[in-house]
Amino acid sequence: MSDSPFSGRIALVTGGSRGIGRACVERLARGGADVAINYRSNDAAAAEAVEAVKQLGRRAIAVRADVSQADAVTTMIATVERDLGPIDLLVNNAGVFDYAPHTEMTLDVWQRTLNINLTGLFLVTWGVKDGMIARNFGRIVNMASISALQPRPLSIAYSASKAGVVGFTRSIASAFAAHNIRVNAVAPGLIETEILEGVSQQAIDKIVDATPMKRIGQPDEVAALVQFLLSDESSFMTGQTLVTCGGRVMVP
Ligand code: NAP
Repeated sequence: MSDSPFSGRIALVTGGSRGIGRACVERLARGGADVAINYRSNDAAAAEAVEAVKQLGRRAIAVRADVSQADAVTTMIATVERDLGPIDLLVNNAGVFDYAPHTEMTLDVWQRTLNINLTGLFLVTWGVKDGMIARNFGRIVNMASISALQPRPLSIAYSASKAGVVGFTRSIASAFAAHNIRVNAVAPGLIETEILEGVSQQAIDKIVDATPMKRIGQPDEVAALVQFLLSDESSFMTGQTLVTCGGRVMVP
């Protein structure tokens, strides 16, 4: 891969202030992109991510917006385009996790999870797609999960939302391909981030035991795949979901 695969490009990473999104932000900046970092509420983490990009010599802004709110998304995209320029590279990463038995699963949990993990991804994509079509260039990576591919009795809304991400990715990849817009997804297994706060150590140990590589993953191991899918190294790929999970799931 060239040293600057994203030179001259503008990127938006939703949920870019922490965890996997933050690792994607740094890979994009190292690759030469200017980066807009979306987040929901943690101003300090977003400011740190902006500083990290500036240290790498690229422009960066933080944009606070809940991706599940249509008006907030419209304002966010207008802000990015005004401050950095038209968006070429989109990482739809922002997401929340639900972890509870079905007896505690409520309509509220279902709606919150689907609104952020799936409707949010639709709203942000719809906010950028017309510009990408007009410029005949776009690269989109959506954050799925291996929960889309296996039963998850303790994460029913989450696994449904991530299966939706895989289907959405395939459909829009097909719809947008004629406009030089490639759309792919990444499906990570367990990755060490703050999203796991509600999950017991015992549950994590059980997952590690069921993983051939006997460990959980690091955010940068996911960001490496995102970088690949955004770059020309994956020039003949669209509509695909790449799994990174230490062998816990093997597809096809
Ligand atoms: P994380 O460490 O909890 O970070 C979540 C990020 O998303 C933060 O920047 C957060 O901003 C932002 N965010 C949350 N809700 C948002 C909303 N409604 N609007 C805008 N931003 C929002 O999570 P992560 O583990 O890096 O997960 C990132 C993505 O990877 C998610 O889609 C997740 O489902 C997926 N994933 C994670 C794992 C894993 O094991 N970690 C595995 C598979 C897939 P604030 O800090 O301001 O709240």
